[in-house]
Amino acid sequence: MKERATGPLRPEADERDQTQDQALRPRTFEEYVGQERVKEILEIAIRAARERGDVLKHVLLHGPPGLGKTSLAYLIAREMGVSLRSTSGPAIERAGDLAAVLTNLEEGDLLFIDELHRLNRLIEEVLYPAMEDFEIDLMTGQGLGARTVKFKLRRFTLVGATTRAGLLSAPLRNRFGNAFRLDFYRPAELERILERSARLLGARLETEGAREIARRSRGTPRIANRLLHWTRDFAQVRADSVIRLDVARRALEMHGIDEAGLDGMDRTVLLTILEKFDGGPVGIETLAASIGEERDTLEDVHEPYLLQAGFLKRTPQGRVATPLAERHLGRPAKNGPQGGLFES
Ligand code: ADP
Repeated sequence: MKERATGPLRPEADERDQTQDQALRPRTFEEYVGQERVKEILEIAIRAARERGDVLKHVLLHGPPGLGKTSLAYLIAREMGVSLRSTSGPAIERAGDLAAVLTNLEEGDLLFIDELHRLNRLIEEVLYPAMEDFEIDLMTGQGLGARTVKFKLRRFTLVGATTRAGLLSAPLRNRFGNAFRLDFYRPAELERILERSARLLGARLETEGAREIARRSRGTPRIANRLLHWTRDFAQVRADSVIRLDVARRALEMHGIDEAGLDGMDRTVLLTILEKFDGGPVGIETLAASIGEERDTLEDVHEPYLLQAGFLKRTPQGRVATPLAERHLGRPAKNGPQGGLFES
């Protein structure tokens, strides 16, 4: 397997991020910036369930990595006043693993399954009766004596997170009472997130510096926080520790992040379509192969933002680079993927 894209714009969490994520994770719905409609619906559903002494209906959260799915799951548990158990699709290797997790849940607990689309289809079937009737079929005995018995579970709420809702099977998708798509954040929202993070980290962030980082964070809080860490280091070593506009610009430039917040790989994607495939359309497999990147990484990480920012279009024939991409990259031969795009 190839290594995943690296660098500060890679929105999936690595180990270091997980510690950083924990420290900066919003603790209340007020601290959870943006996604107003999702928050409003959840707050109502949570209050209603609590008042009735009910469990909250299962919740599906989907959207690109780093947009706040895990944070929201923790917030839901907190607001419901229940414990959260966390696992992920690929971590559950056998049906027995999932059965063990389910039978250990306490009444009302929240079970968070990240990367739900990577749960094995056979194992997934264990979830159907668990989600619907709070029971599972357990196998007892072996060979001819083997039989299944129904085992009653305590009532729980499943919160599933996925970057690719389209890959979930219909029976699984249909068992969620609530499904929310998280959107990319606006620069003003990212600015608020950055200001809070800077306070928590004790970083000296000027408004103009925050605005610049927010603008170049691809609408993603995890990236904004990661860029804040980097610009803080940069400001400490190369300036007077204050993250001002010019300091933020220089720091981001050093990492190859351009005016639109695109990194080297984003630009390689666009340049490849423009130069090798005459602007497209080109199929995702062909594109992935000619760039040397995994198809999943292209689809999960690079495409969503390029699509939403208007640099890329998806057509039935394949991906097409837009005139905006052409303008942004200028004359491709001159502006290589790693630079030449910054104001001096
Ligand atoms: P996901 O599960 O979608 O990959 P996370 O919930 O782990 O994303 O978010 C990554 C980090 O980004 C969090 O630890 C938090 O610091 C920040 N973050 C995400 N969403 C928000 C938000 N709405 N408000 C404030 N911070 C956020």
